[in-house]
Amino acid sequence: MAETFNRSAHSAAFEVAADLLAGSTHTVVLAGAGMSKESGIPTFRGEGGLWTINGEPPLNQYDTFSQDPGRWWERRLEEGRSDGFAQALEQSEPNNGHRALAELEDMGIVSHLITQNIDDLHRRAGQTSITEIHGNRYWLRCISCERRWPRQEYTIDEAALPPTCDHCSGVIKSDTVMFGEPIPPTALRRSGDETAQADLFMTIGTSALVYPAAQYPIEALQRGLPLIEINPEPTPLTELATVAIPGPSGQVLPALVELVRKRLANTVARKNHQED
Ligand SMILES: [Zn+2]
Repeated sequence: MAETFNRSAHSAAFEVAADLLAGSTHTVVLAGAGMSKESGIPTFRGEGGLWTINGEPPLNQYDTFSQDPGRWWERRLEEGRSDGFAQALEQSEPNNGHRALAELEDMGIVSHLITQNIDDLHRRAGQTSITEIHGNRYWLRCISCERRWPRQEYTIDEAALPPTCDHCSGVIKSDTVMFGEPIPPTALRRSGDETAQADLFMTIGTSALVYPAAQYPIEALQRGLPLIEINPEPTPLTELATVAIPGPSGQVLPALVELVRKRLANTVARKNHQED
């Protein structure tokens, strides 16, 4: 439980993580459902997860879409967004962890975020350099040219379903990656390129078990990069991480940002002193 996290019991880990972040100019982050959960969004897998309770969605979701996208869109528009998950999403707000991560981007430390979350909370918190590897629930995507649009900015003509792309006439679908649907190649390329340029890797609120997302921290480790893990429970990466902080991101990240700010302020003060 979030309330029981005792920061002072992990002060050494905080110091190590703050040193690594303060020295980085290209941290790449992989964030997962743990961050969303702290904003009240149910997870899919694990105890109490939507799929654990309701069963996993059909594995041929994408086949169903591809076979008759027009029918899929009709159903989608009829159903609206009445399920509990949609309601939880609509009521959710970015938490302190999302905001602290966006601050690390502002500070020139985090240069890219690869997220498995589809809830738009990172963007709403101010993060700008993002790859949403499983898509974004509030966006649409052309399956041919991979152009993406916020759903609100796109008028769907219900008399001409499925909607098609103005640029290439390809079929437009919801941006969220369905079961059986390949992850869009541009998302994979961007994630790989950013990881290849990273000087530090950080995983937050993810067990890093689901591929392809799981491959990025492994690639970083193979290149000899330091790895920071922030996750309340141990994961297969915990043992491999340079430093692991077993707390909720909403508490850990703001505290880290505070420590990093102090370090950067000291560095500037020392530099000014030397120049005097
Ligand atoms: Zn297109």
